[in-house]
Amino acid sequence: MSLEVASRLDKQMLIDGEWVDADDRTDVSYPYDGSTVGSVPVASAEQVNEAIEAADRAYQESTLSAYERYELLTAAADRLEERADEVANVVTSEQGKPLSESRTEVDRAVQTLRLSGEEAKRMFGEYVPMDGQKGFAKDHCFTQREPLGVVAAITPFNFPLNLMVHKVGPALAAGNAVVGKPASNTPLSSIVLFECLAEAAEEVDAPDGLVNVVTGSGSTVGDAILDHEAVEAISFTGSTDVGKYLANNSGMKELTLELGGNDPTIVWDDTDIEQAAEQLVGGACSNAGQVCNSVERVLVHETVEEELVDALVDAAESLTVGDPTDDETDVASMVDDDQFQTVVDLFEATVEQGATVEYGGNYGGDLGERVFEPTVLSGVTPEMPAASEEVFGPLVPVIPVSDFDEAIEEANNTNYGLEAGLFTQDIDRGKRAADEIDAGGVNINTVSGFRADHMPYGGFKDSGVGKEGIKYALDHFSREKLVGFHQGFNA
Ligand code: NAP
Repeated sequence: MSLEVASRLDKQMLIDGEWVDADDRTDVSYPYDGSTVGSVPVASAEQVNEAIEAADRAYQESTLSAYERYELLTAAADRLEERADEVANVVTSEQGKPLSESRTEVDRAVQTLRLSGEEAKRMFGEYVPMDGQKGFAKDHCFTQREPLGVVAAITPFNFPLNLMVHKVGPALAAGNAVVGKPASNTPLSSIVLFECLAEAAEEVDAPDGLVNVVTGSGSTVGDAILDHEAVEAISFTGSTDVGKYLANNSGMKELTLELGGNDPTIVWDDTDIEQAAEQLVGGACSNAGQVCNSVERVLVHETVEEELVDALVDAAESLTVGDPTDDETDVASMVDDDQFQTVVDLFEATVEQGATVEYGGNYGGDLGERVFEPTVLSGVTPEMPAASEEVFGPLVPVIPVSDFDEAIEEANNTNYGLEAGLFTQDIDRGKRAADEIDAGGVNINTVSGFRADHMPYGGFKDSGVGKEGIKYALDHFSREKLVGFHQGFNA
């Protein structure tokens, strides 16, 4: 069954418990045909300050226990689940991914909210055995975790719903107040999320202002967040350039950065090539390749290169390309002209430098606006743009390597270090890859694009600092206090 894209949604921002407008508004477009599907306010710096101050006040006033925070997040999950079909439509309308993928994203967001609710009840401290040091045998110390205050959550366009939940879920679970800022081209599904959170907050008698969402220019909102001393933590997912700007200007604020990647997946000669190829094409083309840990480089043992390329072509051929609202569609449009043109340029430059197009290579035109066909490239060398840069598009560049030393060296031949994959039946190779690949996650027998929402997730090098994954995010959004009981005078 095909669904229609959402009818026009003109949304407002949530500041201090009120849905409010701004002097300016900006349109949101449906990437597949460029039509306007909604609009949101463009917040002024003053409005961002109001949201932060409301959050700060609400944080000070809030008396929600861990159980009540669990109830809040569970109630928000229930509401989102009730609106699942509507929200999946909104995600496709603003982002252009196939409806089947939007449904998966909504389902994951519901689970991420539920997992966050559960984690609210697990903010453990620990007993510190003081007698481990000479002279402290009479002292009893333990730690307790406490919230930070106001957490700002800034998200990108590619998973507009679930990435916002990854920040506000654990932040609220830990007892903080939040100010969300979604990407300007995909703000609508985040606002629906905040509608669910606001209703759930009211249900548990949380103070107004515990949850806020502002929309508008990244630099205006970002600078207001950086400048305001009440913001204790910034959780950012997006490009490495903006991440570095935040890192350079955030002073003493807690900062989590989930940034770009150029993830390698190694295919060794002892694996099932056909099954590996299916996963590789899926991992490179899901969300039209607009995934931070997608398969960006395939490093294959040269003896099985030809066999792998043939299998990749078969797998790419089997994908249906086009209209995101068609249930059969696997690969649809990219989010906007900039993303699309960047992929076109990287592809054309790579072919100009000698890579061979084994499958695909068509874009736009009859395929649909901003649609790029799944494209398998062979004869790729590490210096070519499709291999050396982050490509946010459905390209599968295949790079042959002659031995495992070279595979590891090439895997690490990037400034990024988000995730990596390796297909092999050899446990020793798996162990070596795990030890020697410099990335936040190394996945044996699957692709780099593997992610479950409760696992620790976050890159090394230019891919960021800190981890998401509910429990791990919650650690960033809370701080540890030491409490000591010492020998009293009456004992
Ligand atoms: P982006 O351009 O960096 O935007 C991300 C967010 O930052 C948007 O909300 C944007 O607002 C905001 N922003 C822009 N300038 C800012 C500033 N000066 N201060 C504060 N915020 C600012 O990234 P994108 O193009 O949306 O997303 C693609 C990138 O995200 C890719 O590099 C991808 O690898 C990365 N990503 C990483 C992960 C991960 O978990 N590691 C996950 C998904 C995506 P506006 O939209 O209003 O400009």
